[in-house]
Amino acid sequence: MSSNSADRRTQAQTSVIVTVTICFVVIALLLTGLMAHVVVTMMRSANKIDDARAGHAAQIALAAFASRLSATVTDNAVWDEAYEAVGSVAAEDWAYDNWGSTSKDYALYDGAILTGPAGTIVSAYRKGEPFEPRAYFGEAFDRQIQTAGKPGQSPLLSFFKTEDGVALVGSEAIQPYQTSANVSRFSVLTFYKLLTPEVIATLSSEHGLDGLRLQDGPPPGLLNTPVKDMNGAVMAYLAWPSAAPGSVVFNEVYPYVASAAAILVVFLGGVLFAGASEARRLHRLAETARFQANHDSLSGLLNRHGLLDFLERSEPSASSTLSLYLIDLDGFKAVNDAWGHAVGDALIRLVAKALPACHPEIVAAARLGGDEFALVQVGTAPHGEIERAVLALLVEPFKIDERTIEVGASIGTAVGTEDIASLELLRRADMALYRAKENGKGQAVQYDLELDRERQHIAELEGKLRSAISTGLIEPAFQPLVSAATGEIIGVEALARWPSPTGNISPEIFIPLAEKSGLIDALGVHMLRTSVRHAKDWSGLALSVNVSPIQLCNPDFAAQVIAVLKEFDFDPSRLTLEITESVLMTSPDQARRSIDHLKRFGIKFALDDFGCGYASIGALRQFGFDRMKIDRSLVSGVENAANGIEVLRATISLATALDIPVTAEGIENARQAAILRETGCDQLQGYLVGKPMSARDISTRLLHEASAA
Ligand code: C2E
Ligand code: CA
Ligand code: CA
Repeated sequence: MSSNSADRRTQAQTSVIVTVTICFVVIALLLTGLMAHVVVTMMRSANKIDDARAGHAAQIALAAFASRLSATVTDNAVWDEAYEAVGSVAAEDWAYDNWGSTSKDYALYDGAILTGPAGTIVSAYRKGEPFEPRAYFGEAFDRQIQTAGKPGQSPLLSFFKTEDGVALVGSEAIQPYQTSANVSRFSVLTFYKLLTPEVIATLSSEHGLDGLRLQDGPPPGLLNTPVKDMNGAVMAYLAWPSAAPGSVVFNEVYPYVASAAAILVVFLGGVLFAGASEARRLHRLAETARFQANHDSLSGLLNRHGLLDFLERSEPSASSTLSLYLIDLDGFKAVNDAWGHAVGDALIRLVAKALPACHPEIVAAARLGGDEFALVQVGTAPHGEIERAVLALLVEPFKIDERTIEVGASIGTAVGTEDIASLELLRRADMALYRAKENGKGQAVQYDLELDRERQHIAELEGKLRSAISTGLIEPAFQPLVSAATGEIIGVEALARWPSPTGNISPEIFIPLAEKSGLIDALGVHMLRTSVRHAKDWSGLALSVNVSPIQLCNPDFAAQVIAVLKEFDFDPSRLTLEITESVLMTSPDQARRSIDHLKRFGIKFALDDFGCGYASIGALRQFGFDRMKIDRSLVSGVENAANGIEVLRATISLATALDIPVTAEGIENARQAAILRETGCDQLQGYLVGKPMSARDISTRLLHEASAA
């Protein structure tokens, strides 16, 4: 899983969580708002409906009060006896007896007034006491009397303001049941009833109007219905507080609503918190994943992916150059092999800690695997300066536990430009590093196009080599090995020959190439087969074939050789395999296995190029070589170097002391031949005694020698 796709996924998850949380909260708030609106609307409507009902009830209360007075007035005014009495001289007394005295303590009216047809006051009693109605009710009283003075009308009812408060005054013409039309004006009977607090209280309880009261001015905060005088002017207000049943219910349910709201707030808070912490958790996860994807766990430095990512983001600019250094530790494998992986890991950590600080212009450091590191430089310091800093740092021995460990490094450097991609930059540095390692330890190489061309050339050559092996273009040449004593040919060494249109390509070039490109096993078997096929005809001659150390380390090698000998029915004792001592140093165990196996089969081994390496005598004896071949450099040294003969003599006497016969290679002249014969070599090889030649030339030479004998 790449860090980018993981990143994108986490981002998507985070935004889903954020969106869901926000949606949830918004919907919850919307629903809450709606519910609150419904509750408040219901409460207000209930209040409004009840207020309307109460207003209506107040009007009905007033009307009921009025109609009671009206009925009382009519009961007393439309009365034959009263009509007669008020027309007589005893009118005043009659009025007192029937009405005035009653007013003293009577529920239906507080006062009674009898006025004559001309409007004169005949009798006026208030609570049983005589009083002056015009003073009590004011000028408007006359209008009341005049208006009411016509028979056949229902009683006239008007509110008046008096010193005792608001009074309802009802007046009606006193008349017989059958009204006679010829009388134009009648006496008038007037009753009044005060709207006392007791009366109000009765109205209040009768009509379900709690808190009903009478007030002069418009009452703030109360519902009211105005009380108007004859002229329609408001003189007082009947007022009462709104019962607000909606509010009452609301107040009752309020604690539950408040609790629900509190729970909702807590719940939403929880949802928000959970959403936020989940988003934070995902964010942290993504950060960790990003870090892990870009970093090496052992060293904590960037890994390959992280390095490429870094290079991608740091484009080189005009003012500063970006350079990439690839660093490969020399000898790290040996540390691992000798001390174990724990020490190897500790070494990697120490190096990882030291490298980034080796120069101030280093802006990033990475570990690309095993013992390979990378540094990125942004700045103008010369490459040599950085390379020296790195090499100096790694030349210093590292202390791990009680051990002192020395490593070195090879460095490959490449310069970033705008038009090369990070991968290409890495490839170039890698190529330079490869070359640095080829050049030996502690080397630094900078990439240039020539490296690419060489690589290209090598790749092409590799392709050609592959087909040359498979088509059999590569053929052995045979160089005679002659007896030092008789000069007689006793064997041949097979040497690989690769002809090309521009002449032979040297084995010094294509053998290492075959070794590097994995073609050496195929080439080796091919050489062995063709050499054996030719040598089979040369009965009595020994055959030497060169074997690469890489072949010797191949576990199948011995079986391959034996298979070829069996295929051609070739006597194993005629075959000598020539190996150089390097393999004995690098992979002694594997070499040992192959050698032992083949020796048991009767095959001989010769140590090639003896005298130019460092193989210990003990090792030589241990491996049981059947022959040593003195290197050509020692032979030519006989004539050039001052003590050449002594070195040669010492080398040969070493071999003879071990009881191993010696072949001298590269004999080019008779003087060399004489010296080597004299120092104890029993076999000579070289241009003097025979150049490498074709199989046919060998056959011809054998024929000549046979006929000469
Ligand atoms: P080598 O095994 O030491 O082979 C001897 C080399 O010395 C040969 O070079 C030979 O041509 C050259 N030589 C012989 N006598 C004289 C002389 O008098 N003067 C001079 N100047 N040179 C002389 P060549 O054929 O170029 O082979 C070079 C090396 O390539 C060989 O060194 C051997 O190590 C390797 N080689 C050749 N053929 C094979 C092969 O089939 N398999 C393997 N593994 N290596 C091979
Ligand atoms: Ca050889
Ligand atoms: Ca040799």
